[in-house]
Amino acid sequence: MTTVLRIAIQKSGRLQQGSLDLLKESGLSFSNGKDQLKAPAQNFPAEVLFLRDDDIPQYVEDRVADAGIVGENIVAEKKKKINIIKRLDFARCRLSLAIPRGEQYNGLEWFNGKNIATSYPNIVTDFLKERGINAGIHEISGSVEIAPGIGLAEAVCDLVSSGSTLLSNGLREVEVVMQSEAVLVANPDLSPEKSEILDKLLFRITAVMKAKNSKYILLNCPNEAIERITKIIPGMKSPTVMPLSREGWSSLHSVVDENDFWNRIDQLRESGAEGILVIPIEKMIV
Ligand code: ATP
Ligand code: ZN
Repeated sequence: MTTVLRIAIQKSGRLQQGSLDLLKESGLSFSNGKDQLKAPAQNFPAEVLFLRDDDIPQYVEDRVADAGIVGENIVAEKKKKINIIKRLDFARCRLSLAIPRGEQYNGLEWFNGKNIATSYPNIVTDFLKERGINAGIHEISGSVEIAPGIGLAEAVCDLVSSGSTLLSNGLREVEVVMQSEAVLVANPDLSPEKSEILDKLLFRITAVMKAKNSKYILLNCPNEAIERITKIIPGMKSPTVMPLSREGWSSLHSVVDENDFWNRIDQLRESGAEGILVIPIEKMIV
């Protein structure tokens, strides 16, 4: 029997689409997990398991799955023996403490003697303990934000991205407990064969993520500007320079970091670049 790497992803919810996209962009082709628990990849030695995200750390520890994609918040809460292999730059959110909007907030001491509703009892307990705060933790599994409204607790600790859910429940975010994003996790004791497959997958994921953060850029410039422009967009090694049929002009090709993109564009124009084209990159191997 050939070895396959079993990769657990969320069956439905906020992590699902990002996880499917990442694996598919990494070249794995498999069916989407509608009404099924697992799907083999047709062109890569892997099998995708579709599970509840909360269960993924346990399954990876128990080797039901070899690896998985899950929120860092769940990894921190579950405290299982698994390794975080890579941060995946999607499903970014934060776990925050929030209190009723009308309350005066004067710092963490506010929570002394209060009850906090949360789905993350371990994280919240450790956070408060490290800071010498004594609060009651009320564990609930969903709709945490309604707890103060129905008198179940005086505060909540819940995931936030825009903060609109808190706002519409009359709550105010007062402390960030942790930042989170989707992460690739794996069992720490994979066989050499499985480790090799995981490394292959990781290589591909890295290429996909690098490409997402980069753009291919083409521009025309007078030859005397090439040196200046090369300093602005050095690219992976150095830019490609090709002569234009117009005397004294060249076409220059390079790669720029997405985050830095608009700054560079301004500098390029000031340096004499014209006809700038910016193109997405699909994969990037460095
Ligand atoms: P399941 O039924 O699989 O247990 P769930 O209700 O626990 O689903 P989701 O709401 O789909 O989970 O959230 C899954 C993960 O997505 C969270 O653990 C967190 O890492 C991330 N996440 C949660 N809220 C947000 C948000 N507002 N923005 C971005 N990512 C988020
Ligand atoms: Zn969940």
